[in-house]
Amino acid sequence: MSNSFKYYSPTSVEETIEVLKKCNESTCVLAGGTDLIVKLKKHMIDPENIVNLKKVDELNYIEEKDGIVKIGAMTTHSQIEQSPLINGKAAILAEACRHVGSTQIRNLGTIGGNIMNSSAAADSVAALTALDASFVMIGSSGERTVSMDQLHGKSGNVIRDKDEILKEIFFKSLNGSTVSGFKKLGRRSALAIVVVSIGIVLENDPRKNTCKNIRISLGGISRNPSRAKAAEQFLIGREINIKNIKGCLDKVSEFTVDNLEKSPFKNLIPHKRYAVKGIGMEVFERICKR
Ligand SMILES: Cc1cc2nc3c(=O)[nH]c(=O)nc-3n(C[C@H](O)[C@H](O)[C@H](O)COP(=O)(O)OP(=O)(O)OC[C@H]3O[C@@H](n4cnc5c(N)ncnc54)[C@H](O)[C@@H]3O)c2cc1C
Repeated sequence: MSNSFKYYSPTSVEETIEVLKKCNESTCVLAGGTDLIVKLKKHMIDPENIVNLKKVDELNYIEEKDGIVKIGAMTTHSQIEQSPLINGKAAILAEACRHVGSTQIRNLGTIGGNIMNSSAAADSVAALTALDASFVMIGSSGERTVSMDQLHGKSGNVIRDKDEILKEIFFKSLNGSTVSGFKKLGRRSALAIVVVSIGIVLENDPRKNTCKNIRISLGGISRNPSRAKAAEQFLIGREINIKNIKGCLDKVSEFTVDNLEKSPFKNLIPHKRYAVKGIGMEVFERICKR
């Protein structure tokens, strides 16, 4: 690792933005360090400045107000997976955070770092896609809120100004008739591109046992987690039974193949087209019992 960088450790968001404003383009924000330190050690990056957010306590919170769950960017995966609020109002996110690396990685790694690292295999991002989350970025020109669709640029990286940080993630709390779940196949530490994951948020109409609304996200099939919208449309309005769930998962599989056809990973089609159906069925079976 190069020792030539300048190190800053601000204690508030305001101070962080002042520091970032003064620093040049060759600056990295540091959160838990589980992605960034690896890149520094492997000399994949060589920044002139590092701005550590560890002492910015105001970025660490989980709260709910007026039916909206809000999570500070510096909240760790462990805090999220153990939060009664998240387990009660967004089980899919608690499950996704539980899938991240090892206990040590979950204790250090933050949800903000997971999002900003822009990996195709980012577990929390797959869950946040199914939750239709929004993101608050803050910089010297103030705050801006971006939807999931607006978060990533063409390269697949999160769009961020030089003096901006991710401040908050928010989404609607799931109501009593909505169930959710997440499942991942493959180990990221083995090889990121082999990972495939599915997140499902399903609102049912209990009187008719039909699907009122559904969001299905897939991780590991494209540059960023994405929604299988044709599969969602297939199930909306239909009875929730095994035949219709299988029909929905056929669409999920078709979507997976379409995405991989356009990617450099066509060789993974024979594996992932069936894997998504298997993990999808597992999630449906689990959440439909709730
Ligand atoms: C062994 C191992 C296993 C892993 N397993 C998984 C896994 O199973 N699933 C998974 O999803 N991930 C996994 N990861 C990746 C990593 O742990 C997560 O992506 C983690 O959430 C990153 O968070 P962090 O706080 O450590 O980020 P850092 O490493 O500190 O930062 C990551 C990036 O985000 C930027 N950044 C961080 N916070 C902000 C902010 N608030 N505003 C602007 N930019 C910011 C940094 O500049 C950097 O570019 C693994 C990593 C390792 C080393």
